[in-house]
Amino acid sequence: MSDRNTLNGAAQDDARQGDAGRVLDIVSLYPKDMNIYGDSGNVLTVRRRAELYGYTPVVHNYNQGDEWPERVDMILGGGGQDQGQGTITDDLFRRSAQIHALADAGCPMLLICGMYQLFGEYFQTIEGNRLAGINVLDLYTVGHDVRMIGNLVEHTEEFGDVVGYENHSGQTFLGPNAKPWGRVDADGTGNNGGDHTEGARYNAVIGTYMHGSVLPKNPKVADYLIGTAATNRYGVFDPQYVDGAQEELRHLDELAARAAAVAASRPR
Ligand code: GLN
Repeated sequence: MSDRNTLNGAAQDDARQGDAGRVLDIVSLYPKDMNIYGDSGNVLTVRRRAELYGYTPVVHNYNQGDEWPERVDMILGGGGQDQGQGTITDDLFRRSAQIHALADAGCPMLLICGMYQLFGEYFQTIEGNRLAGINVLDLYTVGHDVRMIGNLVEHTEEFGDVVGYENHSGQTFLGPNAKPWGRVDADGTGNNGGDHTEGARYNAVIGTYMHGSVLPKNPKVADYLIGTAATNRYGVFDPQYVDGAQEELRHLDELAARAAAVAASRPR
């Protein structure tokens, strides 16, 4: 058997296309309707850090009615107003089977706030309208008249403390098949203000209320998403730094640590 035949399908495609087998296909989910409080910063962060690690990120902006990309290595989704959530649900259901298959296969995903809610079973608005979700994460959300707003620190097992900013009316309750992403100290914050959980995990899927945007302030999480995407696709995460890349990464990490410290020192 030649070496070529030992490559998996994606690597063969890349070899045919003549790149070095370093492409990462990243879907930005509904950037037109689901992108508030700077969530598109997550896409910029992943793209830049992937480049600094010597990968070739290809960002597919997926909006309603668009074609689904042939290959998906990561999905990033942002928050949205209740109205924006209503706008995209029909299309999200058309993509539900593909997204479920990717989640089950270990594709890394980061879903913030409004998109986090729609990856659960349903989101019931304050007015009592129920928006069905695609149920990748075992949870449901009910809107309340008291919004949870402010800077937030959560304690995660995997990444240590994660700093972000929450702003939501929805209170989210996890079922037995979702584990929380992290824990929060104060009442009135996190998933539902009561049980001190924040976010949810399933496989490599992270759902969270953390805006901020969250990845620039928490580069470890960005690196987890990139590393998992690269490993899934190429069997290994293999950073190849171009000139100045390590310096830039160090600088970004320093800025992130300073920004996180400021945010953590200013709770609501
Ligand atoms: N509309 C949802 C809520 O307020 C989501 C808001 C958001 O994405 N920031 O609960």
